[in-house]
Amino acid sequence: MKRLFTAIQVKEENALLKFFEESFNLTIINNLIDFKERESPDNYLPFFMRGYSLPINRTFGGKVHQICCRISNDLGFSEKEIEFYVSNDSEFNSSSIFSSIPDKPHIVVINRGLIERVSTPELEFIIGHEIGHLIYHHSYVTRIIQYVYPTYENLPPILQKLYDVWSKLCEISADRVGLIACGNLEVAVRGLFKLSSGLDDKYFNLSFDNMVKIADQTYSEMHDHPSYVSASHPANPIRIKALLEFSKSRLWKHIGEKKSLVADKALESRMNEILYLIKKVPFDDQEETELLFMASAGLMLLSAHEDVKDEEYNYLINVLAQYIHWPPAYLEELNKNNLQAVMKRAAKKIRANFPQRARDLARQLFPIIVRDRKITNSEVEVFTKISTEELKIPFSEVADIFLGGIRELYQPFG
Ligand SMILES: [Zn+2]
Repeated sequence: MKRLFTAIQVKEENALLKFFEESFNLTIINNLIDFKERESPDNYLPFFMRGYSLPINRTFGGKVHQICCRISNDLGFSEKEIEFYVSNDSEFNSSSIFSSIPDKPHIVVINRGLIERVSTPELEFIIGHEIGHLIYHHSYVTRIIQYVYPTYENLPPILQKLYDVWSKLCEISADRVGLIACGNLEVAVRGLFKLSSGLDDKYFNLSFDNMVKIADQTYSEMHDHPSYVSASHPANPIRIKALLEFSKSRLWKHIGEKKSLVADKALESRMNEILYLIKKVPFDDQEETELLFMASAGLMLLSAHEDVKDEEYNYLINVLAQYIHWPPAYLEELNKNNLQAVMKRAAKKIRANFPQRARDLARQLFPIIVRDRKITNSEVEVFTKISTEELKIPFSEVADIFLGGIRELYQPFG
């Protein structure tokens, strides 16, 4: 089973997980949190859950219990490994919490509002989806990131973007597990459709073909007018489109035929097109030009002294994250070109088409100089040259930007 789940996990999701693992050292922090949790068993989450939500277990029996047991069993979990709960919440939602302590169960919570409005097969899809999150350890990453940065707004911009993209990819991987659990594409798509409105079937008269048509239409509109939305879930048409593509893939066919599973390059390339819509990329000429200018000018400032300082590089990738979700790859690519010529071309375009942005861009570049708590003459020279000769900001204003920035950010020995 593990092989199957690895084969269907969205490739990029795993790559981002590795990035989080390495940059946070998730394992160490998680082990410490687990250790403290074992020390104070009173805080054990199921105690709270059992008191405030209804456990779906053998004693209560019923259809929902049967479905939970069947699906978790089908997906390779024993009865004791996952505890299911219904919470008295009218919102059309469900969630899961991964447990990394071996003798403590994972938790899946299904809201009353959802159970009341889905059919039995749709519930199978939803439970499968939640178990998918457990299989891929998704809430474990969230737990650590929220521990280190309890307030989302304090996450550095680059991590915000990556976390957003990662969360959306997780939903797509979990949807695939949901599809395996219910075994029926129409059921899965209908479940996703209900998610967008929370409404019961009786309000619509939607055939499967119509649902696909609506999702296709909305998807193409999104494709023609892309915009970046910071949210934990991808827009439903993207989820539906991703699931439809998956169901048409050779991989899905091989799963059905129980053949050995190998990488499906065609599916991956189709997914790249679809997933483009959940990533942050420059959407228009202005964003593209600003990205090119900030990246090339930023790299020139970084290399103004001999060794590139981590603090300065990290500042630059955080600035670039407003335009693109993974700036390091963009910088690496750019570094191979003639930086000065690239920067000059971009600055010229800014002067011609977006002159109102020049001062703000210079202000955003300035912190690179002082991030390492040192001002070197060569950095000042590069910054002044770019600002006055390329962005054509009068020297007097550049001096203001400089002095203002020093007051605010420069902390020698700080
Ligand atoms: Zn989910």
